[in-house]
Amino acid sequence: MERTLSIIKPDAVSKNLTGTINSRFEQAGLRIVAQKRLQLSIKQAEEFYEVHKERTFYDSLCEFMSSGPIIAQVLCGEDAVAKNREIMGVTNPANAEIGTIRRDFGESIERNAVHGSDSSATAKIEVDFFFNRLEIIE
Ligand code: ADP
Ligand code: MG
Repeated sequence: MERTLSIIKPDAVSKNLTGTINSRFEQAGLRIVAQKRLQLSIKQAEEFYEVHKERTFYDSLCEFMSSGPIIAQVLCGEDAVAKNREIMGVTNPANAEIGTIRRDFGESIERNAVHGSDSSATAKIEVDFFFNRLEIIE
């Protein structure tokens, strides 16, 4: 069993899509083993996306990610990292496969509904950013 960090981003939360998106995870066999609703400060968003700080979209991304409530969650299952990336679809909703979360609910390459860790090592760091071990119940 593997864990991955998922975020339902402010665009999707504001459209009341939390349950709809969660059902995609559960239908695919992933378990939501931790979940919380919170709003990041700009500083916290900058820390979370630190790896992207040289990218042109960094400031705009951090502003967007702190603009409203998000749902941070830990998904658990076999190959959870890769499976979640598949369910999410590629970064740009316009290029994502039909039936993926980003294709169905994303608005733009920035406002693309969900975040998912890109490797098991990243997942560990990202899960620890949001949750302590008492909050994750498998
Ligand atoms: P992913 O979320 O698919 O792993 P990245 O890690 O490359 O994609 O980028 C992180 C987030 O930054 C994306 O999910 C998206 O919200 C935003 N982003 C990525 N590329 C762009 C871009 N070219 N313009 C605006 N925002 C972008
Ligand atoms: Mg990424």
